[in-house]
Amino acid sequence: MNSAAEREKIYILGIPVDRVTMSSALEIFKGMLRKDHCGIIVTPNSEIVQNATRNEELAELIRGADLVIPDGIGLVKASKMLGQPLTERVTGIDFSFEALKVIAEEGRSAFLFGSKPGIAEKAAEKLTEQIPGLVIAGTRNGYFKPEEEEAIAEEIDASGASFLLVALGSPKQELFMEKYKGRFKNVRAAVGVGGSLDVWSGTLDRAPKFYRDHGLEWLYRLIQQPSRIGRMAEIPRFLIKVLITRRKNANRT
Ligand code: UDP
Repeated sequence: MNSAAEREKIYILGIPVDRVTMSSALEIFKGMLRKDHCGIIVTPNSEIVQNATRNEELAELIRGADLVIPDGIGLVKASKMLGQPLTERVTGIDFSFEALKVIAEEGRSAFLFGSKPGIAEKAAEKLTEQIPGLVIAGTRNGYFKPEEEEAIAEEIDASGASFLLVALGSPKQELFMEKYKGRFKNVRAAVGVGGSLDVWSGTLDRAPKFYRDHGLEWLYRLIQQPSRIGRMAEIPRFLIKVLITRRKNANRT
């Protein structure tokens, strides 16, 4: 499964999501590394899909992305409600970790961009301990003035990295990738990773297996960061919206 034409998509609130497994997503990633331009990978959860329904620029960007991975449990539930179940939930953090293994195996390098000062360096240290042969060509924190942005993009490409991980939160990370993808000469794939550098650096704990297996990662994150309550209230609202859309479509046919 290497070409874009073979991607099987399902539409949730009009936003396409690829029906992938971890292994098919990695095959698409390997294909991107062999192309002559930079491919964009987005990892939406229900919050990002909701935002895209209100933000045409983000929606357009997701429609044009080279790989759209279903990161959130809300998307898996929505796909079942729509009668087009996604094969599996592939989290952005797990996918990116596996993609970094591919980078190491192929003798390429990666760049970590985003999160608070010191986090990307710490994540680089931890990742290189866990992935034999991994080379992190450079790191840069995600707090900068707008006028510094172009120089950062140049620094990333000049590092020679083939894979760029952007941790600026959504939609900032997606907009950054979209803006600079055409200018990269070395970067072949870029992914938005949200809070992954915080987790890899050891700053934020990943939910234990029990929470992950039962689709309760959101609950664990809420316990760790109670300020996220407002953002999480979006999940039930999202599922209700999917249900209403499904009813409307059913009445039409
Ligand atoms: N972040 C950043 N620059 C900014 C805003 C956010 O580097 O201007 C970083 C923030 O430090 C965090 C990451 O973006 O490491 C993702 O934040 P969030 O938890 O909102 O992401 P999510 O995983 O929910 O998409």
